Amino acid sequence: MTALDQYKCMDEKQAVEALLETLIYPQEMKVSIRNEAEDLVQFVRKENKKASLLNKFIQEYDLSSAEGLALMTLAEALLRVPDDFTANALITDRLSTAEWNKHVGSADDIWIKISSLGLATSKTVVNSMVKRLGMPVIRETTFAAMKVLGNVFVLGQSMEEALKRGKKMTDQGYLYSYDMLGEGARTWEDADRYFESYMGALKIAGEQNKDSSGNPLKTSGVSVKLSAIHPKYHYAYKKKAIPELSERLLKLAKVAKKYGIGLTMDAEEVDRLEMSIEIFENVMKDPALNGWDGFGLALQAYQKRALPLIDLLIEKAKQHDQKICIRLVKGAYWDTEVKHAQLEARADYPVFTRKVNTDLSYFACAQKLLAAREYVTPMLATHNAHTISAILHFARACPSGLKYDGFAFQRLHGMGEDMYGKVAEVGIPISIYGPVGNHKDLLPYLVRRLL
Ligand SMILES: Cc1cc2nc3c(=O)[nH]c(=O)nc-3n(C[C@H](O)[C@H](O)[C@H](O)COP(=O)(O)OP(=O)(O)OC[C@H]3O[C@@H](n4cnc5c(N)ncnc54)[C@H](O)[C@@H]3O)c2cc1C
Repeated sequence: MTALDQYKCMDEKQAVEALLETLIYPQEMKVSIRNEAEDLVQFVRKENKKASLLNKFIQEYDLSSAEGLALMTLAEALLRVPDDFTANALITDRLSTAEWNKHVGSADDIWIKISSLGLATSKTVVNSMVKRLGMPVIRETTFAAMKVLGNVFVLGQSMEEALKRGKKMTDQGYLYSYDMLGEGARTWEDADRYFESYMGALKIAGEQNKDSSGNPLKTSGVSVKLSAIHPKYHYAYKKKAIPELSERLLKLAKVAKKYGIGLTMDAEEVDRLEMSIEIFENVMKDPALNGWDGFGLALQAYQKRALPLIDLLIEKAKQHDQKICIRLVKGAYWDTEVKHAQLEARADYPVFTRKVNTDLSYFACAQKLLAAREYVTPMLATHNAHTISAILHFARACPSGLKYDGFAFQRLHGMGEDMYGKVAEVGIPISIYGPVGNHKDLLPYLVRRLL
């Protein structure tokens, strides 16, 4: 039983009431946030007219639409399908369920209209295309298209390639958080391989680092998934997994400290939260890391425990006299968490069930983090213009008077370039989460991160 347990599956209404009590959100700020968000969106729309065809395509097939979802789930699943028969069935199913026709009317660009016409397929049309072209042609074309899509979001197949591709952005002052693609390790062999790739990434990124201050707002770093470096990162094995993972993570952290770069633990499923906090503290308090501010973790606002968790982490930072980084995200496993809670017949959900409540929680957490910049470096990760505008307002109104100092925004490579280009003008550092690895591993990550 931990201090956070009482909040884990608390009643949603009570959780919302507690958040509303904390949030400072006067009416004039609300209106101003909306106006600034609208300006940002208008700016991005204008910039999009100059964007590449591929970016326009991605913009048109907004990933929250049924068509965007169909494309991304097709992309994610297709590269893992082992046989042609199943691949054919998947393509036919995915392409015939969405309303591609509506993009023919709405798209500004003639090529998007044409591609939408191409996609505007009902089951009957797919069947007649199959008769004319043959399924192998359709299958290969779809595979090629999906790979092109994957290329936009992978920073590089190797760290060397990623550094080369990211150079233009780093020269402009952007930071990177490199992510070694791949999902959970199933065996020790997998875990060792991932561990070595994180170690390699830290060394390569470290050797490029020209800033010796170790300040996470001035240097790039690496993001690590604990499930990738241990095959049994589960509650049932916690007695062994916690010390083993603490030892592995500490080895990575020592290397990050040596080079003065950052190391951040990704947030994963809610049932791993308690373990991850214990591991985080074990590493943070190690005397070998004294004086290094680059260690951090991601925190999911969709969890009902998010706000009390920030209090707990600030307490730990003070107790161990160690400044930490906190990447605030909304949370990428929403569907899984809801399904899991239902299967377990839990009395309530550990995550909010209404989007507006997750946004409220994100706002309250962002305010709390911005107010605690003495102990925490907030890394605020979002692609939502309204959320970005709210953060800018909260930073300006923060009683600490720090305004835009002492925190960064984070975005995903391949997304939000124009929007964050505009935000960077006020001098806030922007860190880019850059996936490194092959396309097969990218797509499951992408579907989770974006949808
Ligand atoms: C740089 C970066 C790093 C990231 N790292 C992580 C990480 O380590 N761990 C992780 O879990 N995620 C991570 N994410 C993903 C993140 O959690 C979000 O899924 C993603 O950013 C979308 O949120 P948004 O604010 O950009 O968009 P929005 O469209 O404003 O928000 C979408 C989010 O709202 C929430 N939501 C949607 N529907 C509901 C509902 N019915 N009820 C309650 N909540 C709902 C979900 O969290 C969903 O992801 C990262 C994202 C970025 C940009």
